[in-house]
Amino acid sequence: MIKVYFIGTGGGAPSRRGLPAYLVKKDGFSMLMDCGEGTQITMIKNSINIMRVNLIAITHLHADHVLGLPSLIQTMGMYDRKEKLYLMGPESLKEFLKVSFEHTYFRPGFPIEFVSTYEDKKVRVRPFKTCHVVPSQGFLVEEIDSINLDVERLKREGITDWRVMRELKGGREVKVGERTLKSEDYLVVKRGVRLAYTGDTRPCDSVINSAKGVDLLLHDSTFEDGIDASEYGHSTSSEAALVAREAEARRLALIHISSRYKKTDEMLKQARKIFPMSFVPEDLSFLNLRV
Ligand SMILES: [Zn+2]
Ligand SMILES: [Zn+2]
Repeated sequence: MIKVYFIGTGGGAPSRRGLPAYLVKKDGFSMLMDCGEGTQITMIKNSINIMRVNLIAITHLHADHVLGLPSLIQTMGMYDRKEKLYLMGPESLKEFLKVSFEHTYFRPGFPIEFVSTYEDKKVRVRPFKTCHVVPSQGFLVEEIDSINLDVERLKREGITDWRVMRELKGGREVKVGERTLKSEDYLVVKRGVRLAYTGDTRPCDSVINSAKGVDLLLHDSTFEDGIDASEYGHSTSSEAALVAREAEARRLALIHISSRYKKTDEMLKQARKIFPMSFVPEDLSFLNLRV
């Protein structure tokens, strides 16, 4: 299971919705996707531990997605962080942080490593190309598949000895009476969940291909239908829904909602006509993503 926290679901200018920030958690792993202005304040006020964040992934360097980052990193420094922080993002992110730190007289007292992909025992994170008006990328977050014992089969065959189970789980053959049990017959692969976050984007093929079959797609839905979103490199709710349908995603979160909308009923209606499993997350809501 992966937990997704919608910290800031607005876009462009702040409204009752905060600027883009999404937290993905899996056991001890914690990843922040985008870091608009105010992100650390929202997190701290709501007891979300900023020190636990291992990886911050920035989609692009428009102010609403990145201006909260220098201050968040500085607070981590002030709280005497020692653990390494991984960063992902466009090429210019490094320079942006370097200049920000220089001009605010800050030197991080903990290691920061820029990476193009990230993988540990629990999750894998890869960027994919998005179609915005500046260099931009989205992120595909995948829970690593796990291998478990086929409990149903064990039950059917009356195998209850935990020592036998331990051997089988460890990939070893076990002799039980006359029978030799092969571990591969008693192991099942549990597929990990997958989610894709686009940041700001027009509907485009690389998003559709990268988000193929994801359990959750967080897609730019800045405007309702009737506005030419292409002028700003964004998408409407119907365009987001078409991408989700094409990609055969399981669920679609409409995000980066423009501050002009006080209500999202219309936007949601438009999206659901095309992709029924659409929803508009509220700030500070969260989702347990399971297969
Ligand atoms: Zn934006
Ligand atoms: Zn943008």
